[in-house]
Amino acid sequence: MDTRHDCAPPRCPAAPAPDPTPCEGPHDAATIIYPHGREVAGCVHHCARVLAGLEGARVHPFASAGSAMEIYLRARELPPCAWEIGK
Ligand SMILES: [Zn+2]
Repeated sequence: MDTRHDCAPPRCPAAPAPDPTPCEGPHDAATIIYPHGREVAGCVHHCARVLAGLEGARVHPFASAGSAMEIYLRARELPPCAWEIGK
């Protein structure tokens, strides 16, 4: 089922496809480094969600200290794949 609409605002590149939540703040607040080395920029909201569900992922050290801290704090509160249980 395709639930996307043409009028939906574009989301940051880090937003997981199955996660319906909108972005929060700038789309390049931080960069997530996936375990296999790929780097993807994203908003703090989606970076935190990716981080929570992905063993070995981390925030790029170039992220501002404030953004990185925010992401780690949020990720700690999130279950992996938060969208699957409606969070
Ligand atoms: Zn986002």
